[in-house]
Amino acid sequence: MDRQEDDDCLHCKLRDVAMAHAKGMAPPVNLPEIASFFAEALADVIAVAPLNQQRRITNYAIEELHRFLRAKTEPAKIRKHS
Ligand SMILES: [Zn+2]
Repeated sequence: MDRQEDDDCLHCKLRDVAMAHAKGMAPPVNLPEIASFFAEALADVIAVAPLNQQRRITNYAIEELHRFLRAKTEPAKIRKHS
């Protein structure tokens, strides 16, 4: 993905904000706190959905989290983002 595409990618924007936030933290960087910010933001997104869809979307998000984490920690796998 070239730089222009990165600029338009919501994932890349969120990652860049998180990394900038981490750089501004006094060491050691509190990764659980950053993960918690993402979890709360995800909850805000899911809360917009109708109540009867929230559990399904939450389960999907958790599956995606596991899938992306596997892809990023197992170098042989093809992945959507680096
Ligand atoms: Zn991206």
